[in-house]
Order: sequence, then C-alpha cells, then structure tokens
Amino acid sequence: MRPFEFHRPTSLDEALALLARPDARALAGGTTLVDLMKLGVEAPGLVVDIGRLPLAGITLESGSLRIGALARNSAVARDSVVLSQFPALSEALLSGASGQIRNAASMGGNLMQRTRCAYFRSHDWPCNKRVPGSGCPAREGANAHHAVLGTSDHCIAVSPSDVAVALLALDASVAIAGPRGVRHVAIADFYRLPGDTPVIETVVQPGELIVHLDVPATALATRSGYLKLRGRASYEFASASVAAAVKLEGGVVAEVAVAIGGLGTVPWRDRGAERLLIGEALGDAAVDRFCDALLAPARPTPDNRYKLDLARGAVHHMLARSRPC
Ligand SMILES: Cc1cc2nc3c(=O)[nH]c(=O)nc-3n(C[C@H](O)[C@H](O)[C@H](O)COP(=O)(O)OP(=O)(O)OC[C@H]3O[C@@H](n4cnc5c(N)ncnc54)[C@H](O)[C@@H]3O)c2cc1C
Ligand code: SF4
Repeated sequence: MRPFEFHRPTSLDEALALLARPDARALAGGTTLVDLMKLGVEAPGLVVDIGRLPLAGITLESGSLRIGALARNSAVARDSVVLSQFPALSEALLSGASGQIRNAASMGGNLMQRTRCAYFRSHDWPCNKRVPGSGCPAREGANAHHAVLGTSDHCIAVSPSDVAVALLALDASVAIAGPRGVRHVAIADFYRLPGDTPVIETVVQPGELIVHLDVPATALATRSGYLKLRGRASYEFASASVAAAVKLEGGVVAEVAVAIGGLGTVPWRDRGAERLLIGEALGDAAVDRFCDALLAPARPTPDNRYKLDLARGAVHHMLARSRPC
C-alpha cells in the first residue's frame, strides 16, 4: 500500500475543502476502499475520514425518509420506519455482505462501491475501468457474473449494490454536497452507463460528497419487497435481484415499480415496460410481456445468458406475491 496523508475533518466544509485535492478519497466504513487500497487498485495520496461528520440520521419528515450518508447499513435495515414503510430497503440491505460488514458499511459508501469484476481487482490483467484504454478481458474471458444490460464494448462489469436497486424502485434521490452547495439527483440518473468511459461510474464529481438520500413515503413503498438470487445463501453478490412494489385496484394493476439488479452495468428499471402492466390483471402472460420488454435490450454472452431466466423467474415470484389469495 502506498503511503498517504490522513485527515479527520469535523465539519462538512472542512471535508469538502480537503476532498478538493484531486488525489483525495473519502473514507466512510472502509469496507471497500481499504480493500482496494491493499490491492493497489486505489492509491489515494490523501484519505479523508468522514466518520465524524453528523450525517448518520434516519428521519421521516414531510412525507419523505431522509437517510444520512453515514447511516450504517445495519442501522437502516433495522430501523422501525424503514421496516414498516420501506421494506424493500431493509430486505435489500440484509441480503448484502455479512452482519459485521453491514455494521461498518455506510449508505453513501454502499452506493459508491466499486465493481467486483475480478479483472478490475487484479493488476495481472488490463482493465478499462482501472487503466482507461487498456482493454476489457472480461468480454472474451470469464464473464458468467458480468452484466447483460447496459454493457458497452469497453466494459461489461455488473453494478454491485443491492440497496441501489431498491432505492431505484422507490424513486429515491441522492443529495450531493460540493463547493457550490447541495444538488439533488434522482437515483435513476445517479449511475452512468460505461459507454467508452467506464472509469466514470456515477455523477459524483471529484471533491463532492453524498450527504443524504431522500425516499418518498408512498403507499406503494409500504408494499415493496426485495428478492436476491445468488450462488450461495449469504455473503454473495446477486446473480439476479428484483425490487418490486405493486398496487392493485379492482383486481388490476394501478401502480407498479420494478427494478432489477445483478444484470445491469447500472441498477435497471424500464418505466415503459411497467406501463404495459397498468390496467392488467397480474397473470403470467402479462408478466411475461413485461419481462420481454424489460429484458429486450440484453446482450448476454453464452456464459451469462442464464441471468435472463433468473431475472424472469424472480420478477414472476415478486409480482405473484401481490396477487389476491
Ligand atoms: C465481503 C464483502 C461482501 C459484500 N457483499 C455485498 C452484497 O452482497 N451486496 C452489496 O450491496 N454490497 C456488498 N458489499 C459491499 C459493501 O456493501 C460495501 O463495501 C459498503 O457498503 C461500502 O460502504 P463503506 O462505508 O464501507 O464505504 P468505503 O469503503 O468507506 O467507501 C467506498 C467508496 O465510496 C466512497 N464514499 C464513501 N462515502 C461517500 C460519500 N458520503 N460520498 C461520496 N463518496 C463516498 C469512498 O471514497 C470509496 O470510494 C460487500 C463487501 C464485502 C467486503
Ligand atoms: S468488465 Fe469492466 S471492470 Fe471488468 S475487465 Fe472489463 S473494463 Fe474492467
């Protein structure tokens, strides 16, 4: 690991001033950053420990849940308001990592975690995300766990965060502080497709900091849930996951939100596909039409094609939960 400077600011202004240095990185729980520093994938000259900033609150006010960027994944997952009014958030968080990691991991860090692509994490291989222009060995290599949606010729790395998928289904927004104040970005616009610059993963600019998330408290959110399919029952990233919420009126769909994880280079949602379900009874044929539209842009490889069947099955399962018995 390369030597680095270490600072522990106590105010947001102080933190932002430190993070203005181009070689600075924010440190929250450290469960991703420290790993990547040990691997030499990240080599900041300045580490800014933001742990002393007052950004860990979880409050419900004015019809919206506000979650501080430093709220721990475990604290959010067990919060009584989250459990009763935003169950998909709790289920997504509890499906991730391990109890110990969730106790350390922050919400901001979770959204900003880097891909688990093995080529990205090893200096033995080129990687466009680690060294722009060096190539993407995953395209022709071991790609069973890589993305099928939103890929480019330059990168097919899958987006790793579970809770980002739930936040997408719940129409959350991200508050980002920078030198010119705080801006609010819909989570749907937060992640960037890899295109020809896979190194740029989110709209967060150097020198900016996520300060909190806002999640609208809606009747739909209280009906939400999260299902994660993976190679083993815990301590594993998603092969396919679904965050879904449905409101039925008179036996047909009045409102619906479905986001999927494990398949996209970014958390994936298609509002056009959702509109196909409005006014429909939730029969298998309607759900299949929805899945056909949702997965139509997929570009699978022979080794990750299985994810399409997993996602379809998970969507059927989650939408079937909302049918009247
Ligand atoms: C073994 C293991 C298994 C895991 N399994 C899962 C899983 O199944 N599902 C899942 O979703 N996640 C999983 N994770 C990832 C885990 O959720 C993240 O490591 C964690 O959420 C990151 O939070 P942190 O506070 O530790 O971030 P840090 O490691 O401190 O930071 C991560 C990145 O975010 C940046 N950052 C941190 N806070 C902010 C902020 N407020 N604003 C801007 N940038 C910020 C840092 O600079 C850094 O680049 C796993 C991790 C491990 C180690
Ligand atoms: S998929 Fe992306 S992260 Fe993985 S090797 Fe290719 S460029 Fe790098």
